[in-house]
Amino acid sequence: AIWNLGSINIDMVYALPHMPEPGETLAASSFDQGLGGKGANMSVAAARAGAHACHIGAVGPEGKWTVDRLTEYGVDTRYIAQLDTATGHAIIAVDPSGENQIILYPGANRALTEDQIGQALTAANAGDILLMQNETNMQAEAARIGHQLGLRVAYAAAPFDAEAVQAVLPFIDLLFLNEVEAAQLQAATGKAPQDLGVDDVIVTLGAKGARHFNGRDGSKIDVPAQRVTPVDTTGAGDTFTGYVLAALDRGLPMAQAMTQASRAGALMVTRHGAADVIPDLKEVQEAKF
Ligand code: ADP
Repeated sequence: AIWNLGSINIDMVYALPHMPEPGETLAASSFDQGLGGKGANMSVAAARAGAHACHIGAVGPEGKWTVDRLTEYGVDTRYIAQLDTATGHAIIAVDPSGENQIILYPGANRALTEDQIGQALTAANAGDILLMQNETNMQAEAARIGHQLGLRVAYAAAPFDAEAVQAVLPFIDLLFLNEVEAAQLQAATGKAPQDLGVDDVIVTLGAKGARHFNGRDGSKIDVPAQRVTPVDTTGAGDTFTGYVLAALDRGLPMAQAMTQASRAGALMVTRHGAADVIPDLKEVQEAKF
């Protein structure tokens, strides 16, 4: 099983004629609301890839529909707390050129408690995967608990924060970075990915594919990207991460896990939206590129 301590956001997307100036009131020409948050995206990806994905998180009163939607996508939602604080949300303004501006309110995503995590993880088995990203509180505590319980601890260092990654480094077995995050981490630590003391480091490179660094023996695996015409890259990295972990949880070797994830990521960039459009395993296996 995959235990994902992660954010759940309501993504509110507004199409605007131009970005608002200070003091300006601007009417949007369209509005879309969807399920997002890196955590939710990764849980949905893992579930759609066939894993038992158990989400540990929190929402407020107006976010109950997000939990229903996660359930509908196959995510186990029993450890999502219902709080009195606002559900995390992103207000996303998009101008006609496709440029965006985002206001992010973490809300309930930063109100998780160590008790809640401890309680959820008492149901975990040694060898299960614990996943985290940097959109919740309690990451270092969860990493430490997961490590003590003998779980395989995975961390996606996004949104990037050098201190947050370094706080979990001693406890993690797998680390996911995109190209920019990998450069930022190298600048902060002075260490190359294979020298971080983490067994498996996976760096995604967008249209250039992905690379695995084996921290035990220094070897590398390169996985090419599929050739597609991107329309919206939102959620590609999250989908990739969820798919890699689901495949590893099924016992597939790293190279195969990454190949499957790269096919899922490629499908994702051909679609608008986040969690709501993550492909399932059958689509990923049958896709022709
Ligand atoms: P992030 O969204 O976190 O920045 P990336 O852009 O590196 O992550 O994308 C994650 C993965 O999704 C890539 O490793 C690749 O497999 C796939 N992907 C992303 N962009 C493209 C693209 N333009 N063409 C094909 N595959 C892509």
